[in-house]
Amino acid sequence: MEMEIQKAERLNIIGHLAASVAHEIRNPMTVVRGFMQIFDKETFIPDNKKVYIKLMIQELDRAEGIINDYLTLARPRLEKMERIAIKEQMDSVMEIISSFAMLHNIRIQHQMGQEDLHVKGIPEKLSQVLINLIKNAIEASPEGQIVHISAYRTEEKAVIEIKDQGIGLSQEEIKRIGTPFYTTKENGTGLGLMVCYQIIKSMNGKIEVFSEKNKGTQFIIKLPAVD
Ligand code: ADP
Ligand code: MG
Repeated sequence: MEMEIQKAERLNIIGHLAASVAHEIRNPMTVVRGFMQIFDKETFIPDNKKVYIKLMIQELDRAEGIINDYLTLARPRLEKMERIAIKEQMDSVMEIISSFAMLHNIRIQHQMGQEDLHVKGIPEKLSQVLINLIKNAIEASPEGQIVHISAYRTEEKAVIEIKDQGIGLSQEEIKRIGTPFYTTKENGTGLGLMVCYQIIKSMNGKIEVFSEKNKGTQFIIKLPAVD
């Protein structure tokens, strides 16, 4: 019994350490990203060089995404839930994801039905879910494709759909996604979907998946809507 408690305590400490290291690393990254964006707007840098700046921003975002995913898994959830406006949240997500989409030559079309759609949760965590799902959709899509995002309300649920016409998933693959470290990508972590499921569950919601091999995939997030 004593051993069990010590072990739990140790795991707790490791979780906290991981969280604070991740936090400390994110700060300098944010500073670097800010200067990169300034360079991206400079007129003395030719467009064919700005591609590299966009790549640097994208790689920073990728590192940040990985840190966030690990952080979500390491840190006990003690943060306060707040009211989140889906439309505003989606706008800030689009800002983060648009250069990634552009580099993959994918267009994102989003349709935000009701202006006043709200849910309860931690805004950064919901962003993380949306970013993970939209990134997956982009990565699964051949160049030139469109990723469709829509949000609407059905009775007491806020629904967000992310739909691609990419490589799709077989029934076998659908069973495996979201399990730790399952990835089919060369530099994937296989943590993204697991984190998504965990966050949405903590918000009392669920994620549904519909997919067909070589046709495309649709992820549907259903959360309790709040007024
Ligand atoms: P990662 O993106 O690091 O591989 P994820 O947990 O985000 O990890 O995704 C796990 C796997 O699920 C991916 O490697 C991919 O095989 C599959 N997957 C996720 N989203 C899609 C999608 N929209 N279309 C096709 N396959 C997908
Ligand atoms: Mg992913």
